[in-house]
Amino acid sequence: MSTTAIFVEKRNQVLCNVGLELISESKRLLDHNHKVIAIYLTSDIKDEEIVALSSAGADQIIIYQNDLFKVYDTAIYTKALEIIVKTYHFDCLLLGSTLLGRDLGPRLSARLHTGLTADATILAFETEDDDLRLLATRPALGGNLFATIICPKTKPQMATIRPGVFPVDFYENHQAELIYFNQELNVKSSVQVLNIEKTEKSHTDLTKAKLIVAGGRGVQNSFSTLKDIASLVGGELAASRAIVDQAIEPKDRLVGQTGTTVRPQVYLASGISGAIQHVSGMDKSELIIAINTDPEALIFDIADVSIISDANQVLPILKEELSHQHQHE
Ligand SMILES: Cc1cc2nc3c(=O)[nH]c(=O)nc-3n(C[C@H](O)[C@H](O)[C@H](O)COP(=O)(O)OP(=O)(O)OC[C@H]3O[C@@H](n4cnc5c(N)ncnc54)[C@H](O)[C@@H]3O)c2cc1C
Repeated sequence: MSTTAIFVEKRNQVLCNVGLELISESKRLLDHNHKVIAIYLTSDIKDEEIVALSSAGADQIIIYQNDLFKVYDTAIYTKALEIIVKTYHFDCLLLGSTLLGRDLGPRLSARLHTGLTADATILAFETEDDDLRLLATRPALGGNLFATIICPKTKPQMATIRPGVFPVDFYENHQAELIYFNQELNVKSSVQVLNIEKTEKSHTDLTKAKLIVAGGRGVQNSFSTLKDIASLVGGELAASRAIVDQAIEPKDRLVGQTGTTVRPQVYLASGISGAIQHVSGMDKSELIIAINTDPEALIFDIADVSIISDANQVLPILKEELSHQHQHE
């Protein structure tokens, strides 16, 4: 039976969604001849986290508890994962393409002498002669094409995958087998964490937004109206790169290949052309409404609702209508 393991990331001792996303996607793609295994490194075992991993689709959870896992340290985490991989010999190993995953993944793949595809956005598996093969797809050559990369000669086949790309499924009665991993961790880190100071959080997390009001170059002078609309519907403001490059909005509002990948319930795209680098970050949104003056704009290829019109005229009307509704609520 082949095995795909997912490193379950915790940040500030809280489970990150990306681990659940990767478990669910692997479960969706792999049939019953394959096992999806969550690797849960933690300083404290939380029942609700075990339940979350299990109901996201994990068949097994390897629980490795150690006080050393309280604060992320590359050397300690690499060593811990190295021991686990060398014990269980997974066919594939997936990590989130987060700050932590981007640090840990390459170091681990070098330690294990195996290949890694970084920053993938699409996953697929195929089986050849009973051998599981990972196909990880990512934007390549400046985003002008998508490359599917395979590293079949060494194991585990590794990839880091962007957060927010896959939905999390819930398998209500799914029970994962729990494996308590007790091996001693003999590792000396050259890093000593003296203190952790949090900076003021100005960062916007678009991945959690249910409603996104996004604007591009076509509405570059209407961002205050877009902001008002976003606030009236309780959503988040987002932008294309044309806007971020002009410093009209900060980078944490950028959607797309070099920004954030989002999948909200509603994505309103005003004055955005629909370049592949933008679309690859939002095309999984449940409902896409696009406003553009150009009937040939690429954004209309993926829009559920297409409004061929001047957004600078439509947006104030929409804002007024929403304010009106708001006052009567
Ligand atoms: C390596 C690389 C990575 C990139 N990464 C990203 C990324 O992460 N995110 C991203 O967004 N881009 C990214 N880009 C840039 C991307 O290729 C596009 O250039 C960018 O998305 C265009 O932004 P835009 O649609 O706002 O502007 P434009 O392409 O200029 O389009 C403006 C649109 O507004 C319409 N319009 C004009 N006036 C109006 C009006 N009054 N009302 C309604 N519509 C109007 C026009 O018809 C047009 O379709 C990347 C590019 C490269 C090379």
